[in-house]
Amino acid sequence: MRRLRSTLDRVDRKGYGAYKDLAGSFDFGDFTLFIDRVQRDPFAPPSLIRIRTRDNRFDLSLFENRVRRTAFEDFLTREVDRAVHAVVRGDRGSGGSGRVEIQRPSQKVLIRTSMVVQSDFVEARMAVGLPARGRSVDGRAARAVLLEELPEVVSRALVPENVDLDRARLHVETVEDANHLRDLLPSLGLVAFVADGSVLPRESGASDRPLGEGAVPFVSPAPFRVKVELPNRGTVTGMRIPEGVTLVAGGGFHGKSTLLSALSWGIYDHVPGDGRELVVARGDAVKVRAEDGRSVSGVDISAMIGELPGGRSTEGFSTPNASGSTSQAANIAEALEMGTSLLLVDEDTSATNFMIRDERMRELVRREPITPFVDLVGPLHRTLGVSTVVVVGGVGDYLDVADRVILLEDYAASDATQSAREVVGRFPPRAPLQAREMRRPDPRRLRASSLDLRRGKRETARGRGLHTVELGRERVDLSSVGQLAEAGQTEAAARIVGRLAGGDNKDVREAVEGALASISEEGLDALGHFRGHPGEMSLPRAQEVAALVNRVRGLLVNPET
Ligand code: ADP
Ligand code: MG
Repeated sequence: MRRLRSTLDRVDRKGYGAYKDLAGSFDFGDFTLFIDRVQRDPFAPPSLIRIRTRDNRFDLSLFENRVRRTAFEDFLTREVDRAVHAVVRGDRGSGGSGRVEIQRPSQKVLIRTSMVVQSDFVEARMAVGLPARGRSVDGRAARAVLLEELPEVVSRALVPENVDLDRARLHVETVEDANHLRDLLPSLGLVAFVADGSVLPRESGASDRPLGEGAVPFVSPAPFRVKVELPNRGTVTGMRIPEGVTLVAGGGFHGKSTLLSALSWGIYDHVPGDGRELVVARGDAVKVRAEDGRSVSGVDISAMIGELPGGRSTEGFSTPNASGSTSQAANIAEALEMGTSLLLVDEDTSATNFMIRDERMRELVRREPITPFVDLVGPLHRTLGVSTVVVVGGVGDYLDVADRVILLEDYAASDATQSAREVVGRFPPRAPLQAREMRRPDPRRLRASSLDLRRGKRETARGRGLHTVELGRERVDLSSVGQLAEAGQTEAAARIVGRLAGGDNKDVREAVEGALASISEEGLDALGHFRGHPGEMSLPRAQEVAALVNRVRGLLVNPET
């Protein structure tokens, strides 16, 4: 600490570059401060630091297994964020002077690089804007930030005596329950579960926080109600969604998309108070949509779309500019390639001609290569074991193929399966359904060298916010990838794809799952670019990493063809 103080005295008022002498570690007694990377000027990205406590006196039960540890690390990340807001003044000069940050978590609980809890220490990874006056070192302000504010943040957030341990326990137990519930789904024959009392609507289209005033809590329809036993909460009731084809019907603005969206986020655990703590779906569920304009590389969509104009085959379909229907087919084929067991489809974001074709249009247009999705959902389940939850307000043909119908009226769910059967009886089904088989798409072999990271003399593979990845000269658009929760996942996915670029040619699924398996062994830190602070990352799923690979415009697959 004394050494840090004297170094700051020495560099005070010198050119900003003098801060580089701070690189290294400083013993504060209760913790060690590592200054891993010093920014070059006050306007550059902030300096990267780590704080490692001398010991870990938190109760072992808070981090005794992988799930609990992830939850506790998430909790402490949020505690540090709170303490920073309470303690740090910020705004101490030019650029980012005096700003202190930790990775900002979403409502989801994810494995992140922001916090490491080990049996003998806790380590927070943060960023600090080293204070400047103009372009010179402001040693006095730096002393306030590093020697006063930081120790206070540590004291509030990382010292067990000052942390609200009841909240910590609730956090860990909530996550453990959700995890347990998700793991239970296959043995119960379910693809999803929505607990009674869940709050599904969000504050706004731009906020993932729960809607406060006016939110109608979820009540399960009696015929769909089940009881489950959770390790911490005990008995919980809610709506089961079994395997097969589930239709969500209802009038406009009655909460259909909100339910589907909550299901799609049910792949992740949520923080207490989110409202969706016990809304879970199979961890491999994929929400698919139309995404016209996307690039597609060698995807086998032939089970959904036959020969295209000019006799073009769709077994290895490639285009720099997919249409609504071909992009949706590619999204489904790619999800199947990654082994999903649950597809989530919303009419709001689907291509009409992909979803349905009525009899008149069948008469008029004979040369239609598309088998509409309504004819595929049954075979998808029967032959591939892949379930579907589909939101439909306007297309009754789906009533023919649904195993069950959830009706939403004024945000209240009811079981409309029986009334749907009666409606089908009164309005006979359309032209006899083709009892089609559904084939699994052929796997694609990734040509690793087609992931080109070169950008001038450098190589880049990095995230730019939630929805963009910069790979070499290309910016890959992920805005239609519906289950990326936070920018840290995008960053990690970018770096994983950066690794794949230098690897061997493998099947896409094998390559992505292999990369994630080694991360699960080495830890997410292994994606860091240098020693110390690894950068702000959160663990993505294989599905989202594959989604990134699949959208690279230069991507080449199946090198032998
Ligand atoms: P739909 O897809 O049926 O047209 P949405 O799911 O888009 O309807 O919901 C319409 C509006 O109602 C949205 O603003 C949403 O936030 C709100 N909403 C949805 N579910 C609830 C609920 N349970 N309580 C209160 N508001 C809700
Ligand atoms: Mg909708």
